[in-house]
Amino acid sequence: MLAAYTEDTPLRRVVKPAQAEALAKNKGLQTVGDLLEFVPRAYLPPNQLTDLGELREGEDVMVVAEVASVSVVPMRQRRGFRCTAVVTDGRNELDLTFFSKHKYDFGLRAGLWGVFAGTVTRYGRRRQLTHPEKELLEEGLSAERADYLRTHQVPVYSATGKVTSFVLRTTMALVLDCVEEVREPLPAAVRLRRGLLGRRDALELIHRPRLEDDVRPGMRRLRYDEAFVLQTILGQRRRAAQALHTSARMPRANGLLAAFDARMPFTLTAGQREVGDLIAAELAADRPMHRLLQGEVGSGKTVVALRAMLAVVDAGGQAALLAPTEVLAAQHHRSITALLGDLAMGGMLGGSELGTKVALLTGSQSTAARRSALNDAVTGDAGIVVGTHALIQKHVTFFDLALVVVDEQHRFGVEQRDALREKGRTPPHLLVMTATPIPRTVAMTVFGDMETATLTELPAGRQPIQTHVVDEARPGWIDRAWARVAEEVARGHQAYVVCPKIGDPTDGSTLTGDTSDEDAGWGDGPEEVGEGGIPSGAVARPLAGVYAVHDRLAAEPALAGLRTAVLHGRLDSDAKERVMTAFARGEIDVLVATTVIEVGVDVPNATVMVVMDAQQFGISQLHQLRGRIGRGSAPGLCLLVTSEPTPAAAARLEAVAATTDGFALSRLDLASRREGDVLGARQSGRGSSVRFLRMGNRDDEELIANAREDAFELLNDDPELERHPVLRARVAARLDDEQAAYLERG
Ligand code: ADP
Ligand code: MG
Repeated sequence: MLAAYTEDTPLRRVVKPAQAEALAKNKGLQTVGDLLEFVPRAYLPPNQLTDLGELREGEDVMVVAEVASVSVVPMRQRRGFRCTAVVTDGRNELDLTFFSKHKYDFGLRAGLWGVFAGTVTRYGRRRQLTHPEKELLEEGLSAERADYLRTHQVPVYSATGKVTSFVLRTTMALVLDCVEEVREPLPAAVRLRRGLLGRRDALELIHRPRLEDDVRPGMRRLRYDEAFVLQTILGQRRRAAQALHTSARMPRANGLLAAFDARMPFTLTAGQREVGDLIAAELAADRPMHRLLQGEVGSGKTVVALRAMLAVVDAGGQAALLAPTEVLAAQHHRSITALLGDLAMGGMLGGSELGTKVALLTGSQSTAARRSALNDAVTGDAGIVVGTHALIQKHVTFFDLALVVVDEQHRFGVEQRDALREKGRTPPHLLVMTATPIPRTVAMTVFGDMETATLTELPAGRQPIQTHVVDEARPGWIDRAWARVAEEVARGHQAYVVCPKIGDPTDGSTLTGDTSDEDAGWGDGPEEVGEGGIPSGAVARPLAGVYAVHDRLAAEPALAGLRTAVLHGRLDSDAKERVMTAFARGEIDVLVATTVIEVGVDVPNATVMVVMDAQQFGISQLHQLRGRIGRGSAPGLCLLVTSEPTPAAAARLEAVAATTDGFALSRLDLASRREGDVLGARQSGRGSSVRFLRMGNRDDEELIANAREDAFELLNDDPELERHPVLRARVAARLDDEQAAYLERG
């Protein structure tokens, strides 16, 4: 009799100990329940499998065939052996070729059936696969098994060591036959409303499909479950946040905000006004605001945030503005001070009576400067404190922190955000701004416990940005790019040249040592490089470094006499500040920089950007970078320089060149990444990532929205999940995972 399993049965009771160990170690699978959620990475369609007659050169194929003969012979030109197996489907033949140091037959023996995958090449008149992925079927199962494979849709699992896809397939079948019950986290009403399969049926279809169409509804169910658990967690967080009390920050009729509005150099866009009113109302309530502000690059989020900060200062509180890099913190400090004028000179001679003080706190400023900023924060002299992660440290205290604004959230984790919130006497209001617009899937999951507001329009008078891909390998193209830079400078404008790395300051032409750009871990450098999924090793030639490119520009006749400078995260904060200030004042024509300028830098006179080795950057990152130009009244030009990009990289660059719609680009960006990375710890600050949901996918957008509605409704009815123990257990497990991932990160 077959043993009965439950979802909690440990896998070591199901498979051989070594296999159980491999599954636990390599795939994190401990129990039968875990195994059932280990979904195939692909399916082999039936029929298409064994037709060896139709294999075309260059094609990636998977075939099921029988080994007809095996020979292992010494190689003529080199040392070592070549193993050739001829496989057949009964009609046609294919060669499998393997090379090895020793006389080895790779386990291939005549009469064995196997699944082989690889790229078809030609050798003489014969077609072959060189070092194919192979999975030999156990002896005795051969012909019958192969028949099954021929008529069914065959799941392929990502194999691990001795646990081949084949072992996983048979184990899965065993487990599906023997598991007594698959627990249902979803209420029947939800299943009915959304037309979802039962969980057990879904798993059955995923692991033992007959037809191609079987897999889809099965996977939809798993995706729904994942979304539902996530949304339940977010719903609970949201309810907890809504239960908090804080001090209401009432507006003041003739206060700082009114004074600022009166002197603002431009009129607010309709969106800025609307969102501003919304935020003002929330600040005046006794429940802490918990809001995400997203908007297109250049849509004017900073002004919205500043007005919120002024509103709480009017009400006697303080605001903290948290920026991801020193350059950005300094830039915010500079621009806020400039926008406020004498309103920023509170307590100083010549300051307005209404005014306040804007302090700057960063990790690498001088002790004296830091001490004074800390003092201004704790006494309340500074109504606004701008800073980097230095703001989060324990010894930083505020007199009465009323509002926390987090700029360009994607660099911050939830934990850091929470640390800042704990610095209030009462829970401070929270406003989070994203760098680029984000798709709804992300808004609903990563930021799903917040209310969102979106600025959709750009301030009037903005000029379009033209983007072109420049192929460095084509003669004359790069020269033309430099000529365009020179032309813009001749018109009185400025340029950015962005490089994927810093390089060596002493010798611009070589690459030595560790020259990656790190700003105390706050990522202004190439940690993002290759985020679009390119292995960095894909580029054989050295990547453009800031110093090398700076040298190259000096030697470029078209650019003779231009004032150039370098900027990157490794410069000390004084140097960074000097360079940025000089650039903002127009004293530098061409700034050669790393992605340290990616977020927030605001110099409206800069009109052209050249991105070197643009294939190294991800879609959203390029969009964000490009947002540094076209901020003034002159049109912008963005040149993406690349050479020999992979097809995927070329497609990304073309996409960026084709549109300036940040929503469309971020959806593409998500779709082009591995799903698991989307909610990766670094991005979201949340512990673990999604497994089944596809964040770049429109179908899943609707699915997440439905799950959200259902989960929130369920929580209204049963906030503690007392009547939904299976769901409660899943929620707890997910939270445990997140906690573990967080602890691991340290
Ligand atoms: P982002 O949303 O990308 O953070 P910023 O807040 O940096 O954009 O704003 C971009 C630029 O637009 C800044 O120079 C800012 O002063 C300017 N700006 C903001 N709002 C307006 C407006 N209503 N009219 C004109 N310019 C504006
Ligand atoms: Mg900004």
